[in-house]
Amino acid sequence: MTVSRCYYEILDVTRTADGTEIKRSYRRLAMKYHPDRNPENADAEKSFKECAEAYEVLSDPQKKQIYDQYGHEGLRGRGHAGHDFNSMNVEDIFSMFNDILGGGRGGGRGKNRQVRGYDLETDVEITLEEVLTGTEREVEFDRLDVCETCQGNGAKPGTTPETCTTCQGQGKVAQAGLGGMFRMVSACPTCDGRGSVVKEKCEDCYGRGRNAVHRKLRVKIPAGIHHGQAVRVAGEGEPPIPEVSPDGTGTRGDLHVLVRVEEDSRFERDGDHLIQIVSVAFTQLALGSTIEVVSIDETHSLDIPAGTQTNEIFKIEGAGLPDLRTGRSGDLVVIVRLAVPTKLSDEQRELLEEYAKTEDIPVHEAETSFWDKLKGAVTGS
Ligand SMILES: [Zn+2]
Ligand SMILES: [Zn+2]
Repeated sequence: MTVSRCYYEILDVTRTADGTEIKRSYRRLAMKYHPDRNPENADAEKSFKECAEAYEVLSDPQKKQIYDQYGHEGLRGRGHAGHDFNSMNVEDIFSMFNDILGGGRGGGRGKNRQVRGYDLETDVEITLEEVLTGTEREVEFDRLDVCETCQGNGAKPGTTPETCTTCQGQGKVAQAGLGGMFRMVSACPTCDGRGSVVKEKCEDCYGRGRNAVHRKLRVKIPAGIHHGQAVRVAGEGEPPIPEVSPDGTGTRGDLHVLVRVEEDSRFERDGDHLIQIVSVAFTQLALGSTIEVVSIDETHSLDIPAGTQTNEIFKIEGAGLPDLRTGRSGDLVVIVRLAVPTKLSDEQRELLEEYAKTEDIPVHEAETSFWDKLKGAVTGS
């Protein structure tokens, strides 16, 4: 069976997502539907496999292009069908995407196996003010830690796990593949790749050797961070899985704190620059004036020379946001826009009518550059 749900939808990314975003989202979802986290949950396993299929396509530029152009049918018809994840072992999917999912699972008992736990991800939302100054947040998340009662081996205290008789302690078994043409090695179904079976299960972890633990942590968010970037907290992920390291020795994974920056209706952010549109009166543009512009934390005076046109762009240097690495501040870009009064008092109307009599009304000539700009905006390119 091949899934026909949209791959972008499955991975919860937009069509314009780049490789990093696709990878990040896949890792997050693979962890969410992780079979270790969802024991005996067929829906989770199905979602896990669906994500693997979507990731296989979207992470490969050639397949992605075919998919973007021709959809699922295109991939089937061009010898790019990829793996049939539904008939694959969860263990084999793990070893396929080992570099992203971290660690191994079950069958990955090879000599190059990394004894490292899974990375975890959580997210925080911060304001533009906090981007300016940097901030701290308490994050809460659940992770699987070594069961303290059985020290991770899953056996009831006083008993020990016994060597699995199906695989003789090897953790893997060979099965005949398609029509007996070749043999496939996969994780032993009896011991789930551990090589040993627990006769009397630890009552605190139901024999799994790991328990979900709720953890709280204060995390520093550096000034200048961008929406979608993550702060990595080394060693706050999970210990290696029991199949690889029952007692959890090895390297813990990391915690990635994904940062979302709240929209601020006053500003548009462009890198470290902030863009602001400020409304000014016709007289301020025509006669020149000094206006007050409020950046995130300060009020600045901005001189507008006489004869300034609407949509003129000014810059207040250093009034933007700090660069994440250098700390150097970007600029505040101010676009002045003419505000035409919608209500006039009798006196104002009279004055304007007097003024209008003296005015040189410009001859309207088509501005070609304007039409080019507008065309670009309309075609959305
Ligand atoms: Zn236990
Ligand atoms: Zn076994």
